[in-house]
Amino acid sequence: MNICVVGTGYVGLVTGAVFADLGNEVLCVDNQPDKIAALQAGRMPIYEPGLEEMVARNVADGRLRFTTDLAAAVKRSHIVFITVATPAGSDGQTDLTAVEQVARGIGQAMERHTVIVNKSTVPVGTGEFVRDVIERHQAKPVPFDVVSNPEFLREGSAIEDTLRPDRIVIGAANQQVAMTLLELYAPLERPMIITDVPSAEMIKYASNAFLAAKISFVNAIANICEQAGADVGQVTKGMGLDARIGPAFLQAGLGFGGSCFPKDTESLVHTAAVLGYDFRLLKAVVVVNRERVALFVGTIRKTLDPLDDKILAVLGLAFKPNTDDIREAKSIEVIERLLALGARIRAYDPVAVANAKKVLPPTVIYCDSPYEAAAGADGLVLVTEWNEFKFLNLERVRGLMRRPVVFDGRNAWEPERMRRLGFEYYSIGRKPVSPA
Ligand code: NAD
Repeated sequence: MNICVVGTGYVGLVTGAVFADLGNEVLCVDNQPDKIAALQAGRMPIYEPGLEEMVARNVADGRLRFTTDLAAAVKRSHIVFITVATPAGSDGQTDLTAVEQVARGIGQAMERHTVIVNKSTVPVGTGEFVRDVIERHQAKPVPFDVVSNPEFLREGSAIEDTLRPDRIVIGAANQQVAMTLLELYAPLERPMIITDVPSAEMIKYASNAFLAAKISFVNAIANICEQAGADVGQVTKGMGLDARIGPAFLQAGLGFGGSCFPKDTESLVHTAAVLGYDFRLLKAVVVVNRERVALFVGTIRKTLDPLDDKILAVLGLAFKPNTDDIREAKSIEVIERLLALGARIRAYDPVAVANAKKVLPPTVIYCDSPYEAAAGADGLVLVTEWNEFKFLNLERVRGLMRRPVVFDGRNAWEPERMRRLGFEYYSIGRKPVSPA
């Protein structure tokens, strides 16, 4: 099938590569000429495990190509996926500028029946909005359908998630158009659910909001554990064994970040308000999340007081492991708060340094290894739980530090082990420990 994917970011590039891998002819479009030039030259604009190989294979086989020419791409495609960014606007409202631009371009270029698929995360009602924009900009009245097909991939395992999603949601106005998408996804042999368009749009927000609620709930429990002398790790283990609850998304930490949960929760609060419902439950989820970093930095401050000129090694800048994405990463807020308190920062991340440099203050020093970051530090702050940090040579780290204090924002290490290794160790929702 001839497919066009508009917006070549984390979702669009992975979607395009996977559809090409399934044997379709895919044209990926972006309005950033640099990005397209890089992709045409075989350079990936993002880090995602397995992506480079999959893109290279399909480019070599002639099934995957890149262009900035939206009109030409629309004219040769049966299905056009919209996968552009939908960032937060004011008051949590979703900014649909890019979606609108693309819809306009599709309308102007369309010459025959086309299925337009909203894969970007968009508020309920956007399917109708896209239909309206296309209709108003059509050069000639060509029939078309607008489908909602929300994406659930996770950065860091995007290829795997796209090949083996838990479910594929297809929101369509009629069976016939739903069949087009069913056929496209059939080779994946995964569960598919067909709904109307607004329900599909809601499934995405309801899912993200629910997962965010799980995270904030556990973090609130962690706050109580800290006061009560309980261990949140043991508590969540006990909770997670209940089949009705399950162990996923029960890790206490610095809260949710990234390009999806923060904006999607606020967007749903906003949508609810517009529709006349005050979503107090979800508002509380957002508030609990916002408090996480302040509490964590409070512990660092109290322990090392004063922070003036103290050197802190920060491990992990990406918003989560296995990605270079630092959008809404907790590292940014942690580092900015620590700098404001006078600390000096030596940071390390396996892949996110280039992106971090674009947003963090120039005073941050970037290191080539966790050991280089720890050398001479008055404290080590773990922000992102990359696997390589879990397997650090902690004895070596302790030997390098000026003062062996560790602040673990993700509960990556065991308190008892840290105590035996000679660290003063602070984590989330667990008792602090001092060296044996
Ligand atoms: P992204 O910022 O990585 O990529 C978006 C791409 O769209 C960029 O390359 C940008 O240059 C391009 N673009 C913007 N305006 C354009 C236009 N007018 N014409 C052509 N290209 C344009 O974003 P992303 O992370 O891939 O997210 C895309 C959508 O998918 C968002 O709605 C997001 O909420 C949703 N989503 C993201 C994830 C994720 O983990 N990143 C997961 C599920 C859903």
